[in-house]
Amino acid sequence: MPRHKIKTMIPYGKQQINQDDIDAVVTALKSDFITQGPLVPAFEQAIANYCQAKHAVACNSATSALHLACLALGLGTDDILWTSPITFVASANCGLYCGAKVDFVDIEAESFNLCPKKLKTKLEQAQHNKQLPKIVVVVHMAGLSCNMQAIALLAQEYGFKIIEDASHAIGGSYLQHKIGGCQYSDITIFSFHPVKIITSVEGGMAVTNSLKLTQKMVRFRSHGITREPNNEQGGWYYQQLELGFNYRMNDLQAALGLNQLKRLDSFIQKRQQLADIYKQALAGLPIEWQQQSQQSLSAYHLFIITLTGVAPIKRKQLYDTLQAAGIGVNVHYIPVHTQPYYQQLGFKMGDYPIAEHYYQHCLSLPLYPDLSQSQQQKVITKLQTELCN
Ligand SMILES: *Cc1c(COP(=O)(O)O)cnc(C)c1O
Repeated sequence: MPRHKIKTMIPYGKQQINQDDIDAVVTALKSDFITQGPLVPAFEQAIANYCQAKHAVACNSATSALHLACLALGLGTDDILWTSPITFVASANCGLYCGAKVDFVDIEAESFNLCPKKLKTKLEQAQHNKQLPKIVVVVHMAGLSCNMQAIALLAQEYGFKIIEDASHAIGGSYLQHKIGGCQYSDITIFSFHPVKIITSVEGGMAVTNSLKLTQKMVRFRSHGITREPNNEQGGWYYQQLELGFNYRMNDLQAALGLNQLKRLDSFIQKRQQLADIYKQALAGLPIEWQQQSQQSLSAYHLFIITLTGVAPIKRKQLYDTLQAAGIGVNVHYIPVHTQPYYQQLGFKMGDYPIAEHYYQHCLSLPLYPDLSQSQQQKVITKLQTELCN
């Protein structure tokens, strides 16, 4: 019998779970409350404090949190939601869940983020056609904040609400403030999927400074039910006031998330250090990477390179070569409007040329706190070999 060796792969991203995390989850599991105990509100408070926001609503995923945010902002069937084509499908799907029409604004070639100039042009046209969006979901790609000042000015002028999809960006900052402070938005969303910056296994959070939006999200999170005391009825009484969902986070997830939060700043520091090493080592190769701005400190969920015209190797070929060498590179993202489901809605190839060009050339390199020096060196050496010929 041939003996198969299991090849160890360097993944593009990976959670860090330590003994302290495990102990925290086990303690929660042995406690009286494993679903809706004290840890969910404690995690919410800790995230709100970290971001210096007033309120936080924990959910079972960022996808749920995006849906709750849209519901709280009153998105409905006559409304329009815009987002970036370079994102995970969830940033757009939340609009469709509400029956709204979804449309996209192309990205900036340098930052991979939704382009404020193209947003302005599209808004001018939309105003003319009476097709203005109710919500714009901006995505902080790879952890780098969008140009929120410019986008918030347009929100004032054209009267739309802003949701920051900061699934990549907890721990990053913009103009000296932690992302999530909602200085320039109505609601900010974080994801705690294991591949993101900190994890609660699955989980998400909606952060806001508005009590009214918080109350709405809390109600939609749990079936649209309130439990306000009613003396005429009795202590058991509850009322369903609208059609909500079960999007709740549980105490085991919150236990892990809370404990991970203690290491958030050190995770970010490590990610930034690793990104700096990539930049130094890869300078001079025929590639580019996401241009950082003076205003932002990226959380570096991803380190994305783009292969420029003169690279001797095509992206697909480089992807295959690195994968075969045990280096788990990935591609973020397939433009949402090119997905079959969105093509059925009428979008077509060519609609967002910068996003499509970016997609043809981008590649995410391994980046996570436990990526070792020798693992990173392996990635660098392989890239140097493949890109120098
Ligand atoms: C991961 C991700 C989501 C969805 O997060 P889940 O917690 O898995 O639902 C949404 N938007 C972006 C940009 C993401 O990267």
